[in-house]
Amino acid sequence: MLTIALSKGRILQQVLPLLKKAGLEIADEELNSRKLIFDTNISDVKIIVIRATDVPVFVQHGAADIGIAGKDVLLEHGSQGIFELLDLKIAKCKLMLAAASAEKLEQNTLKVATKYVNSAKQYFQQQGQSCEIIKLYGAMELAPTLGLAHCIVDLVDSGNTLKANGLEAFEHISDISSRLVVNAAAFKTKNSQIKTWVNAIAAVI
Ligand code: AMP
Repeated sequence: MLTIALSKGRILQQVLPLLKKAGLEIADEELNSRKLIFDTNISDVKIIVIRATDVPVFVQHGAADIGIAGKDVLLEHGSQGIFELLDLKIAKCKLMLAAASAEKLEQNTLKVATKYVNSAKQYFQQQGQSCEIIKLYGAMELAPTLGLAHCIVDLVDSGNTLKANGLEAFEHISDISSRLVVNAAAFKTKNSQIKTWVNAIAAVI
């Protein structure tokens, strides 16, 4: 049996058509049921649909053999026990540093609101900039407006959310897109099965 973990939400809408082109699909009635593990058209492949942040956790521990999640989530989680095999080139965006003005970034210790604590810490460390990270789970854009932080580190796609909140992107931290990852041990024990699907997906990217 091969278990594939997919991220709920934005990524799922783009991943399901991609998997279908690669020959793997979940029937609509199955997808609309209250099940948490979905059968597919291939008898030995199951799909689970979970929160993005849980995908690398399931893959690291081997509860899922393959996972598809955003690079933002994978960078935060770390790569222990996980191999990243493919860039699916979907759900593309950028992890950026944004503030109301360049002046706000001129601080001895920069207060940074973000969901991406590890990525932000690593970035400021590389820049030699002292920072205090304030972890938020959403609506990061509010933090500079209300004086909670000097700036934010967040995902930016069109830039409309930043603009609507009086913020501007100043630094590009990393390019983000959905990646296919595998459990390191399963990559050895289920190598041919995993490779078959990875090759089929790679062919339709
Ligand atoms: P935008 O206004 O188009 O720049 O989109 C920014 C908002 O959408 C932010 O709240 C981001 O967290 C979110 N966002 C943009 N792209 C992605 C993505 N690929 N995956 C997850 N969230 C995203």
